[in-house]
Amino acid sequence: MTPAERRARSRLAQLIQGQGLLRGSLLQRGRVCGRPGCKCARGELHQSLYLVISEKGRTRQLFIPKDWEALVRCWVRNHHDARGLMEEVSRIYWEKVRKRKR
Ligand SMILES: [Zn+2]
Repeated sequence: MTPAERRARSRLAQLIQGQGLLRGSLLQRGRVCGRPGCKCARGELHQSLYLVISEKGRTRQLFIPKDWEALVRCWVRNHHDARGLMEEVSRIYWEKVRKRKR
């Protein structure tokens, strides 16, 4: 195993073993609450965070409450990083096949 592969695999193992993984992207969106006289009625919208994923061609979204934000951001980042690392390992194996080198 090359050092690059070993490094990618060990980071991947760390992520997968102990931490939350969540696929999706976070989207900040402004909304109007409907209370008359609220600042949002004058265009200063309330900001809400949503997790957006696409599944079998359909888009789903989930409202993320303020006190979940940090945790969800961390899980989403873990998933993103894990995918990147899988991709790194995959490239190494692509080259193995291409060069006929096990
Ligand atoms: Zn409002």
